[in-house]
Amino acid sequence: MVDIVFQAHCNICNKAVSVAPVLNRDDLVAALERGADVRVTHVAAQGDHTWSLSAQDKQNLSNTIAKGFILGSSGSGLLTSSGGRKERHSG
Ligand SMILES: [Zn+2]
Repeated sequence: MVDIVFQAHCNICNKAVSVAPVLNRDDLVAALERGADVRVTHVAAQGDHTWSLSAQDKQNLSNTIAKGFILGSSGSGLLTSSGGRKERHSG
């Protein structure tokens, strides 16, 4: 699971939805800095929608991360970089 969720435009739904990047945060930031493709996904009624962000959406995401304002985390613990704890789901 990823802990970054933000608003982006889904061409399939044709509306703004809450999406999660396929990459983890470090790779996501690196991809944004390089201008590389950033693939995101969200769960729709018919199944997952996955696509690459437009330049505009990447800019928005970059701004969002720069402001430290990441949606989707319950509570106010945005800074969780202590230790290397990982969650695993088998199956
Ligand atoms: Zn969609």
